[in-house]
Amino acid sequence: MSRMRVAQIAEMKGPLEIVEREIPEPEAEFVRIKVEACGVCHSDSFTKEGTWPGIQYPRVPGHEVAGIIDAVGAGVAGWTSGQRVGVGWHGGHCGRCDSCRRGDFVTCQIAFQVPGIMYDGGYAEYMIAPIGALALIPEGLSAVDAGPLMCAGVTTFNALRNSGARPGDTVAVLGVGGLGHLGIQFASKMGFKTVAIARGMDKEPLARKLGASHYIDSQAQDAAAELTKMGGARVILATVTSGKAMSAILGGLGVNGMLIAVGATADPLEAPTPLLIGARRSIMGWPSGASIDSQDTLAFSADAGVRAMTEIFPLERAAEAYERMMSGKARFRVVLTTGR
Ligand SMILES: [Zn+2]
Ligand SMILES: [Zn+2]
Repeated sequence: MSRMRVAQIAEMKGPLEIVEREIPEPEAEFVRIKVEACGVCHSDSFTKEGTWPGIQYPRVPGHEVAGIIDAVGAGVAGWTSGQRVGVGWHGGHCGRCDSCRRGDFVTCQIAFQVPGIMYDGGYAEYMIAPIGALALIPEGLSAVDAGPLMCAGVTTFNALRNSGARPGDTVAVLGVGGLGHLGIQFASKMGFKTVAIARGMDKEPLARKLGASHYIDSQAQDAAAELTKMGGARVILATVTSGKAMSAILGGLGVNGMLIAVGATADPLEAPTPLLIGARRSIMGWPSGASIDSQDTLAFSADAGVRAMTEIFPLERAAEAYERMMSGKARFRVVLTTGR
């Protein structure tokens, strides 16, 4: 009873391996979560490949966690055993830096914590999390549904709801993949005129089913020109991992239009400055959200019927699940389940 299975990386670039460990006890201000499901995110490659500085191994990846609180540490108020909770990219913060003092925990400059990178995450039957990282999962949302919303979901939801776009405005989602298929649903449910943009026609039926009222095939058409014909986009949510593709779409922004990059890539985004100056167009990035933003994402998704499309693997097949995610062929989010 006091042992659990985890999928860990024993050393940088090592394989994901299933090992048994003692079930940990929560310290003060922490809870223990019985993990039901954990999404497999491309950012887990930071842990697998050791590309995030200072990772201490062995490390259990996973920052798209959904489960049930099963023990609370000393001094924990407001959270109790039996509550269904998620933990996402925002896995804790310092509470003292200027950002934290302004309530902007995601930009914490001293001790921003990511589960699965700075401490053991959700590829496990149990994990320990600080209470500041918890988001309540509403009834009506399964653990498998909640997991991917804790990272891919909150990122697209929070970027859109903070974009300044209003119902009826044209919002384009560039890319119909792990982030994009959620972005299209959120944009549509928020009341935006939602335009999906992807390469080829094969994704059109899905994009329309997810709520896009318009579809642009960026291989067959000049997507920027097509957006301009519609009056220009107020927001382009760029979910692709191609700076070149983002650069090519900039001309489709309307007056005061903003491209929000949520797809991370080293490939540079280039913009001619007259394009930005003339109509006050802008480019920004958006870094997921804090635990309360995740909670809002879960609640909105439960009410509005937003769901990630998932491929499910049991925890013991974590290595295979990770390879599936890295292959780019999964439709669209890979989720591990513990059977608990
Ligand atoms: Zn992630
Ligand atoms: Zn801080």
